[in-house]
Parts: sequence; structure tokens; C-alpha cells
Amino acid sequence: MQDLAVDIKITQTEQSRLPQIDFNDIPFGKHYSDHMFVADYKDGKWQDLRIVPYSDFSLSPTTSALHYGQAIFEGLKAFRNEKNPKEVLVFRPEDNALRLNESAKRMCMPELPTEIFMQGLHKLLDLDRKWVPDTQGSSLYIRPFMFATDAFLGMRPSNTYTFAIVTGPAGVYYSKPVNVKVEKEYSRTCAGGTGFAKVAGNYAASLLPAKLAAEQGYDQLLWTDSSEHKYIEESGTMNVMFQINDTIVTAPTVPVEDTILRSITRLSVLEILEGMGLKVEERRVSVAEIIEAAKNGTLKDAFGTGTAVTIAPIASIGNDGEKLELPPVESRTVSAKVKETLQGIQRGLIEDTKGWVYRI
Ligand SMILES: *Cc1c(COP(=O)(O)O)cnc(C)c1O
Repeated sequence: MQDLAVDIKITQTEQSRLPQIDFNDIPFGKHYSDHMFVADYKDGKWQDLRIVPYSDFSLSPTTSALHYGQAIFEGLKAFRNEKNPKEVLVFRPEDNALRLNESAKRMCMPELPTEIFMQGLHKLLDLDRKWVPDTQGSSLYIRPFMFATDAFLGMRPSNTYTFAIVTGPAGVYYSKPVNVKVEKEYSRTCAGGTGFAKVAGNYAASLLPAKLAAEQGYDQLLWTDSSEHKYIEESGTMNVMFQINDTIVTAPTVPVEDTILRSITRLSVLEILEGMGLKVEERRVSVAEIIEAAKNGTLKDAFGTGTAVTIAPIASIGNDGEKLELPPVESRTVSAKVKETLQGIQRGLIEDTKGWVYRI
């Protein structure tokens, strides 16, 4: 790769934790690789770029992110090239670097130059490449994040920030199709809010409604627009698509709707679907339309798209206390084909004609 003028100091761990990991048992979000990338923003610039052993941060009690929530993150995955196991493949990382900066702008945080994101990621994965699993269905989950670090309780944007990247091996996120509930009481965001940005607070706002739904047996929520609760927006950590007869419908993201996170998996899936010659409609999708389609048998499929889940089939939709079962997963040939194509590209089995794969 091009060697950009990004100077990163590397301090290696003295003892790798790799021998403690059982790659056949890697639940999502539990294990972290040996190293992390860290950069600090102060005096108006990003500095002290470093890779250090994964360790705790030391924070002031008045760290502003803890009080006022200037905190954003990203999520992406690296895979072992199944045709060349020495090579690590990262899926569309530049898109995550760009989206991080969209989130940063909305939260009044400094943008991070893409070269720093990419060089930090490259050097980190190069160093921890043994952490990329080669077991079926697993990957290395990558979590870049940025938060405000001023030790100051006054209400204003922080002047200092930390950006870091941590990674960890992870198996499949959902082991079976999910049951979702159409949420009509609570909202995670609203027009003019922060829904399009990947900000920590959006998740905080979603925890209570998700917990209440879990008590009723649902795995996830289907968020609806905050003003009327008539239109489906997205799910907790994934955008959603519906197949009505032979047409795929999905809600638009920015710049059309600012309440929906622009999923990179969604964009990839839409391109694959179009390549397969399917009709795709990006438009508002009403709850009534989906319920009617589920009842009259024209709803052939529904699934979520997101890095963590890749493609997650929806088993049932709960609406106003009524539970609608969707067709059996075995019958859903379109989403199965899309998933196979997407995973094939991600794992080096299918040629990457779109420039989505970054190689290390
Ligand atoms: C991260 C996220 C997604 C999925 O986006 P990908 O880029 O595909 O990983 C969807 N919805 C929300 C709310 C998210 O935070």
C-alpha cells in the first residue's frame, strides 16, 4: 500500500493473550486482540499516533464524554482470505472512515483524516493478524471510536478528543432468524436529530424500549418515524429490507431521511440485488403496507443488513400485539443468494469487481 506520511509509534505486548482464546467459542464482543491504535486530538490537531497493548484508559471524573455524550463509533469486519489464508481482507474500510467524519460533524467533534484511520487500521491489523479467525462464519470485528476528553464540566464542545481502534474475534451474531416488534411508543431519534450519525446516545435511547420488547419475547425493534409511527425506519443495529413479490423495498437514508443510519452493508446489498436484476425501491415503507403484504402472502422475505449480522432473516413481526409469521427461511432464495455473494466477496471466494475489499 501507499506509504503516507503518518507516523505511528508501535509498542508491542510482552505476552500475547492469543493462546487463551478458543476460536470455536468466540461470542460477539467478549474477546479483544493484543493491541489497540490510539490518537489524541489537542491544540487543534491529531497527534501522538500509537499502537499499544490493549489496556484500560485513565480518565478524569469530569471527562466530558461521560457527562455530555460526545461519543461516536464505527463497526467493520476483517476476514481471512479463504483462497490465501495469509492475507487479511477488510470490507469497505474507507466508507467507515468517511461515515465516522459525518458523525463527528453532527456531534461537533473534529474530523479524523482518512489517512490516519486507514494507516492506523492497516498497521494494527498487520500486527494482530493472527487474531483474524479462520473458523466458519467468524471474523475479526473492528471497533473504531472517538470521545471527548476535556476534564471540564462547562457546557461546550470539548477541545480534546481520543480516537482509538480495538478489535476482537467474533462468531455469528444471531444464530437464528429474529423476531421483531414494530415500536410505536418510543423513538430512538427524530427528524433533525442524530439518527443518521453513529453516536453512542442513539443506543442509550434505544435500550429501554428494546428491553421492554425483549420481555415480550422479541429480539429486536422495528423503529418507526417519531411523528406518526406509521413508517418503518430501521432496526436496532441494522437497516431492514422487505421483499414484496419480486420487488425489494427499503427506507431511504441520508440525504433523504436523516433518522436512519446509512448502513454500508445495505448499500452493498442494494448493489448486489441490482446486479441480480431485481427491482429495488428506496422509499418510505409504511407499517400498514408490510402488515397487509404479510397477511395476503405477497411478503416473501424480510431481513436486516448490518456489519455485525451481515444479513439477518426476520422470522416474525409483532404489531399491535399481533404476531405475523413470515415464510420459512428455506423459501427465501433472494436473500440467501445475496448473503452468499456478499460473504463470498468478503472472504475472497468471489472476485471483488467493485473495489470493496482492502487487503493486508
Ligand atoms: C451500524 C448500524 C447499522 C449497520 O450499518 P453497517 O454499516 O452496515 O454496519 C444499522 N443501523 C444502525 C442504527 C447502526 O448503528
